[in-house]
Amino acid sequence: MKELALIEQIRRDFASSPRKAVALGIGDDCAILRPSPGNEVLVTTDFTLEGRHFRRDLHSPESVGHRCLARGLSDLAAMGATPMAAFLSLALPASLMGNARGRAWITRFFKGLHSLASHHHITLAGGDTAESPTYTILADIVLLGTAPTGRSLRRSGAHAGDELYVTGSLGGAAAELSTMMSRGISSSRARGMSGHPQMFPEPRIATGLALLKRGLATACIDVSDGLSTDLAHLCRASDLVAEVEQSALPIHPLAGKLEAEAALKAALHGGEDYELLFAAPASTRMPRRLAGVPITRVGRFGRRRAEQPLMTLAAPDGTRATLEPHGWEHFSSH
Ligand code: ADP
Ligand code: MG
Repeated sequence: MKELALIEQIRRDFASSPRKAVALGIGDDCAILRPSPGNEVLVTTDFTLEGRHFRRDLHSPESVGHRCLARGLSDLAAMGATPMAAFLSLALPASLMGNARGRAWITRFFKGLHSLASHHHITLAGGDTAESPTYTILADIVLLGTAPTGRSLRRSGAHAGDELYVTGSLGGAAAELSTMMSRGISSSRARGMSGHPQMFPEPRIATGLALLKRGLATACIDVSDGLSTDLAHLCRASDLVAEVEQSALPIHPLAGKLEAEAALKAALHGGEDYELLFAAPASTRMPRRLAGVPITRVGRFGRRRAEQPLMTLAAPDGTRATLEPHGWEHFSSH
């Protein structure tokens, strides 16, 4: 398959889903986007690198395509943005382009990406394709979204006394990955989206949008690197400290199957859950669910004083310990 044939295939796959905000998609030198009046454009880019963010022997091609897009969508969700369009720069090894098995991998990669894109009503509006100089697959995705001007959720808006909330549950992606790695099996059988937090994480677009529209959050971040690491970002950006209540943490059922200590570690430090972590005033009446996703209060923010740890963990017996950011460092670095 030549580069042109591949682009033509991508164009056909995504042509059936034109969007109002995309005045011109794949096929010209540039795409043309038209955000509606009163909105501003939010942009995020994310690498998906073989050996760092996925392993071809563990993740199915559909999963890699899904996760590639999910990472950017989760960033948009964290700001309360509505996704507008995606752009994908892809470097593929010659070995993949040159044979039927490799081409099947590419087709299935786009199937995974396309399925999540349709779910969120966005299209791939452009990109670039090149031969990878190595044997590894390299992808970089750019996501654009819109939000009412000046109203996006930021990391920096939380106040002392605000409560800390998280969507969905934690530790599922790390738990599924450790199972996949210990069994050493290809996950290609796990094609269904739900119940596979590592393979097919669900970015919380609708929940982020609801938080923004209903004015429920003062600050927000997505949990891509693990609660401990992402909460530290939120604390620093808002210049606050936070206390997490261990017994309040919503543990994903897959993490719940682990030993208690491993389950807690997965929930606190496991990455790639793509849940939202947000702050809201204590006076806010927080719904139990937002856009169908459970919301759990897991702690609160406080004023930052000298010599005080940024984050503490309150155990069920009331004892407090410093919570260090030990978020997910991808498997290739171990
Ligand atoms: P140019 O040389 O102008 O960059 P290309 O041949 O690279 O043109 O791309 C032609 C069209 O195909 C452009 O609209 C580009 O955005 C799109 N395109 C190329 N690669 C991809 C890709 N991996 N995903 C989506 N669109 C792509
Ligand atoms: Mg190009």
